[in-house]
Amino acid sequence: QEDIFKKLVAHCKEYGFVFQSSEIYDGLGAVYDYGQNGVELKNNIKKYWWDSMVMLHENVVGLDSAIFMHPTIWKASGHVDAFNDPLIDNKDSKKRYRADVLIEDQLAKFEEKMNKEVAKAKKRFGDAFDETQFRETNPRVLANQQKWNDLHARFSKALNDNDLAELKQIIVDQEIACPISGTRNWTDVRQFNLMFGTEMGSTSDGALKVYLRPETAQGIFVNYLNVQKTGRMKIPFGIAQIGKAFRNEIVARQFIFRMREFEQMEMQFFVRPGSELDWFDQWKETRMKWHRALGFGDDNYRFHVHEKLAHYANAAVDVEYKFPFGFKEVEGIHSRTDFDLSQHQEFSGKKIQYYDPELGKSYVPYVVETSIGVDRMFLQIMAASYNEEELEAANGKKDTRVVLRLPAALAPIKLAVMPLVKKDGLPEKAREIIDDLKFDFKCQYDEKDSIGKRYRRQDAVGTPFCVTVDHQTLEDATVTIRYRDTMKQERVAIADLKGMIANEVSF
Ligand code: ATP
Repeated sequence: QEDIFKKLVAHCKEYGFVFQSSEIYDGLGAVYDYGQNGVELKNNIKKYWWDSMVMLHENVVGLDSAIFMHPTIWKASGHVDAFNDPLIDNKDSKKRYRADVLIEDQLAKFEEKMNKEVAKAKKRFGDAFDETQFRETNPRVLANQQKWNDLHARFSKALNDNDLAELKQIIVDQEIACPISGTRNWTDVRQFNLMFGTEMGSTSDGALKVYLRPETAQGIFVNYLNVQKTGRMKIPFGIAQIGKAFRNEIVARQFIFRMREFEQMEMQFFVRPGSELDWFDQWKETRMKWHRALGFGDDNYRFHVHEKLAHYANAAVDVEYKFPFGFKEVEGIHSRTDFDLSQHQEFSGKKIQYYDPELGKSYVPYVVETSIGVDRMFLQIMAASYNEEELEAANGKKDTRVVLRLPAALAPIKLAVMPLVKKDGLPEKAREIIDDLKFDFKCQYDEKDSIGKRYRRQDAVGTPFCVTVDHQTLEDATVTIRYRDTMKQERVAIADLKGMIANEVSF
């Protein structure tokens, strides 16, 4: 699985999906650029989200707020004081870790070690082996399981109490319980604020310290009144936004899974106090349906309910996808109460309320949020679509192909048009077909190499349809259309192409 992930990362580069930022200067940590195919896929993901949120819901409208905002917003939201990750350094290796992620990794490795021990015994005893009995009676496994349980319980408590000294102690104790890196030379755990700061303008008093927004949500909250009043919105209603967010992540790992500059698609849904948990349940189901509608297998998604809630939430759940490196969060759904709007009311001194004509009174609305990372969704889709297939070649030899089984609606290129040979008027005919279709679909012209090679190139970027122009085309205005997934080919009239493809590439 890890191996597949490495291949996927290499594939993203080789086929123009994702490049390391500033690559010719040896790169910049956890920042990435999207190439010619990546940008198309990314735009299609954003459209899939935007259309399902803003077009299909009469009571959800869009917004595009600025990245720079008044610095007091981040005081009010709690980000200046509490948007921190616990950080620890290893004095020997000089490596820096996020303490909670390190502990999770250590616990996972510890568990793996226990499982190996069980697997070894299983091999030794063969058919007679009773795993449950072994786990319940073998003194070493039992002792380790006890240690693991204790560490896990301490970890949950330390996170809950924000106890930094205890987090360090758990790391040290884990190293003793299950030596992995073999080092015990750690610094203390410190809080590290994830916001990037910069300076704006220059006045006689100095410049204004501003932040690059770490989430798009606050731009929605501070525009709540503007949108509600000018759009004459009635509660319940939502505001949706797609935009960049920035976090100075301590450990940047797993390619575009955790980046320092990334994009979010967030929707804040404003509801009557007391109804928020019903709306939370509704959005939870709606969002899960949206993910599963892509057809990557219902079992590859699950909910993860948060035990520890953020200071602003009274319910929270993640939608997780089974990545090659395990089930991980793709989207968060949070019931944020009236925390944000109340804070902004207090810090700005402006009344942020809704007059509910049915109840005949005013209140600060409650909020249910759905928040998903575009880049993480991109990685999820690439991981789900990437396939290496064994094929039976015509001469009986084994052959392989790499194919991205992207949903047609998301594919960067919908249609490749290929003249069979580079002469006899076939290239001109192919261009004529493209000129007719390019206003409806992203098309690509390709005349280089054998037809077989050209098909493989399109498979590798997920193009659902290839059209080949041959000599017969000039006589009867038909072409061969070849389908990516089945590799089947059929002869169709040029005049029918638009309708056929439009049918397949719409959401
Ligand atoms: P994590 O626990 O992974 O740090 P989070 O719970 O802080 O994430 P939220 O603040 O809820 O994440 O952000 C909502 C969504 O934004 C996440 O579900 C994820 O898809 C995306 N996201 C958050 N941080 C990053 C990042 N550093 N890089 C890419 N996407 C991110």
